[in-house]
Amino acid sequence: MSNEYYFDIADSLFNIFSSDNLTNIVTKYQINKYYELNQIHSTIVNIVNDHYQNKLDGDAMITNLKNVALIIKTADCIPIILYDSKKQVLAVVHSGWKGTLNSIVKEAIKKMIAIYQADVKDIKAYLYPSIRKCHFEVDEDVYREFKDKIKDIATYTSKKNDKYYIDLQNIVVNDLQNSGITNIKDTNICTYCHHDKFHSYRYNHTNQRNYLIAMIKE
Ligand SMILES: [Zn+2]
Repeated sequence: MSNEYYFDIADSLFNIFSSDNLTNIVTKYQINKYYELNQIHSTIVNIVNDHYQNKLDGDAMITNLKNVALIIKTADCIPIILYDSKKQVLAVVHSGWKGTLNSIVKEAIKKMIAIYQADVKDIKAYLYPSIRKCHFEVDEDVYREFKDKIKDIATYTSKKNDKYYIDLQNIVVNDLQNSGITNIKDTNICTYCHHDKFHSYRYNHTNQRNYLIAMIKE
């Protein structure tokens, strides 16, 4: 598979979401330096500076370094870019259902502001292809975890034959808006519906991943 999706974000930012393998992607786009995470469905946000050790545990990275690509791997979870184009501060976020439940985007935004003086008025948010309400089916136990944390969860949920269908993207959008971000774009592409284009774990339990790669350009 080698399908791609990207947003027109800023002249200073390269971004691609691809179902191709990582070697092909970095070769195609001539990316020399890139960092990954050991993604653990946490709310840990790592700062990528000159001392960053690759593949630390965590689910988000922030940097202001140029020509250093940040990578998030997903197969249904929501990959997100947050970018302040004025301060040139970039965050990439892996928001699976646990990260969404625990508002990892809010943690990333807090650190962009505290450490890099980013301004919510200038931060734009981009949600890439991920599993949507049409296919994100959970049982009562998972639904109850959401219900305990998100008071208006019913507005994001449909129930059919004892199964719950949760709109994870709009829970993230609500967190972004509550953080003061108004410039938000969502692809509206469901990875399960489009399993011919992007890897979907729920569709076939694949061990392949889609790669979100973002890099501030010199
Ligand atoms: Zn779907």
